Amino acid sequence: MESTTRPPVRLLVFGRQGAGKGTQAVRLAEQFGVPHISTGDMLRAAVREGTEFGQRAKEIMDAGHLVSDEVMLGLISERLAQPDAVNGWLLDGFPRTLQQGKDLMALTGADGIDLALDLDVAEDVVVERISSRRVCSSCGANYSVQVPPTSPWTCDVCGGEVTQRDDDTEQAVRERLATYLLQTVPVVKWFEEQGLLATVDGVGDRDEITNELISLVTNRLF
Ligand code: AMP
Repeated sequence: MESTTRPPVRLLVFGRQGAGKGTQAVRLAEQFGVPHISTGDMLRAAVREGTEFGQRAKEIMDAGHLVSDEVMLGLISERLAQPDAVNGWLLDGFPRTLQQGKDLMALTGADGIDLALDLDVAEDVVVERISSRRVCSSCGANYSVQVPPTSPWTCDVCGGEVTQRDDDTEQAVRERLATYLLQTVPVVKWFEEQGLLATVDGVGDRDEITNELISLVTNRLF
């Protein structure tokens, strides 16, 4: 898709952990030619760099809690100011609280978000999915026990080591699901009230879900 001839594409992707948000977000961003901005990936990169900030973030993430709104706003404003984000972006994992939603709206302006997509998957389904999830520790590519890389456990994309995330333990998963219900569901509802939300059933064939998401965005924007 020609970036110079199309309107900007500014998308949000919501979904409980394990709803397939990461996979679908990567595909959509590629389809619409915009950067895939995952705040979870940004925080994990800081953890790998071993900075003081990264160490603090790791403790919060491993406990299944959220990094503060103030810190996240700083991270996301810096990222959205990068040249590759001029003609749109897809945010994966941000906003995570009502405050972050309002901060984002203030940053982009009232017309600055085109569509928020919510991948709907029941809680018992995601618990099962998360416990079998495996992720490349270098590039973040997603695998699972059922769908491993071609050569276990080496990433097909970059050759990195594919492991289980430290925050995918059962205790942290339960904590994160509770956090999602308490903190993130209100911001999803807020976008719905503003007519900016489209909900998609996140259970089923991955490619069909991708196609449904692409149609929703295309119908809305083009
Ligand atoms: P994710 O990869 O999106 O599941 O994010 C992993 C973890 O990073 C979350 O459980 C949070 O601890 C932290 N995190 C990611 N995005 C945010 C955000 N927008 N606000 C606060 N914490 C976040």
